[in-house]
Amino acid sequence: MRCPYCRHADSRVVDSREADDGQLIRRRRSCPECGKRFTTVEEAVLAVVKRSGVTEPFSRTKIIGGVRKACQGRPVDDDSIALLAQKVEETVRAKGAAEIPSHEVGLAILGPLRDLDEVAYLRFASVYRSFDSLADFEREIETLREAARAREGAGAVEAAGATS
Ligand SMILES: [Zn+2]
Repeated sequence: MRCPYCRHADSRVVDSREADDGQLIRRRRSCPECGKRFTTVEEAVLAVVKRSGVTEPFSRTKIIGGVRKACQGRPVDDDSIALLAQKVEETVRAKGAAEIPSHEVGLAILGPLRDLDEVAYLRFASVYRSFDSLADFEREIETLREAARAREGAGAVEAAGATS
């Protein structure tokens, strides 16, 4: 690792410790040229395997971009989108695999996006699941309606329980 102070090409590790439950390794390094110390952080890269077979590093920014596009014109703020992207990253990392197919990343987005905004969800799902007919939309909307009814039903039960 090149010294950030004098650009010397080599450095010596003086201390290593794990952080973030072993997700990261922080190394304290010392430059043999100028004697200054600096820290580096090592993190295992989570790779996303695209349908074409090409891999690219998992990017939260990319998820935010895709979700923001689906949320255009919807009452969804940036904080909620950032939180969603964080959830997606946690879900994907929790699988414990070093490489993850891109469609699994898409799947991890669908759930939280449905909770966030149903219209944005439909937009995203239509692209991601390549809806090609009105019937696909109808089926998805019916699923959303059923979920909404189930939620209302549960809410009514809770309300009834609260008053008794
Ligand atoms: Zn140096």
